[in-house]
Amino acid sequence: MTKAKRMMQEDIKLVDLVIELLDARAPLSSRNPDIDEIAGNKARLILLNKADLADDAATEKWKKYFAEQGINVCRINALDAKSMKQIEPAVLKACEKKLARDKARGIKQRPVRAMVAGIPNVGKSTFINSYAKKAVAKTGNKPGVTKGKQWIRLGKNLELLDTPGILWPKFEDQSTGLKLALLGSIKDEIMNTQELALELIKMLDERYPGAVEEYYALAEAAAEDAGKDAAPDDMLIGDQAEQAEVLMKIARVRGCIKAKGELDLLKASNMLNENFRNGRVGRFSLETPEDFDM
Ligand code: GDP
Repeated sequence: MTKAKRMMQEDIKLVDLVIELLDARAPLSSRNPDIDEIAGNKARLILLNKADLADDAATEKWKKYFAEQGINVCRINALDAKSMKQIEPAVLKACEKKLARDKARGIKQRPVRAMVAGIPNVGKSTFINSYAKKAVAKTGNKPGVTKGKQWIRLGKNLELLDTPGILWPKFEDQSTGLKLALLGSIKDEIMNTQELALELIKMLDERYPGAVEEYYALAEAAAEDAGKDAAPDDMLIGDQAEQAEVLMKIARVRGCIKAKGELDLLKASNMLNENFRNGRVGRFSLETPEDFDM
């Protein structure tokens, strides 16, 4: 077992609820299925984070998808303090069975304790920071509980562990790995940057036809520059001639040109991947529940 997983299992013992952060743009691909085993019988809440970057219609479908499985779910933007308002009611709802049980047994109500978990870059620290800003105080070490743990207290009902549980992205198929690389959850190096850009063009063209062309205003440029530059030597065309053509157009429009006058496709690829990640090209989701045939 990895150290991160072991640490998380220790922390889980201290909490009532596991708050799982997923990337709203690809919730299943950004989910580590081990969470079910790690979280055991603890109450659960899913937050579809970065909803500001995702396609609203797709996010609604995902909310429904998780809700139908009886899982409590909210969509949030961890950078936006307004998103934090939903957290306390959602946490209390997720823990309602436990709270009712405690009450029936005459156990004195203490704050619900929760921890945040998710794969790297999904927004765990951002969420904890936004939450802490809204919170009344950090409660410091709790006597009798593991040393060195900091709890952030929100109202009288809720305490959040200030260190998140890190889950490793898990992917058996190439498509999941690809989506994680596009979201920035795994390092670009595992995939060639240009290949990633070509795959992104393909994926967006299937889901949001014309969006990339529109963002970079490729149609106008194409008419002016028709046939101007041939594909450079380092072009990885393969069976992606159409996508390669789009990438070359982006390079031309944005002036990605090397010293010898050849198109700089690495630069254009980096720019496209980056513009997608930070939502400049538009609000897109890379998967919807229908893709999983469920
Ligand atoms: P962690 O590795 O899970 O702790 O992820 P971070 O909290 O470090 O966030 C990774 C990046 O995503 C940072 O650049 C954050 O600013 C950004 N980020 C986190 N949450 C959101 C969100 O809801 N919307 C947007 N647009 N960016 C976010």
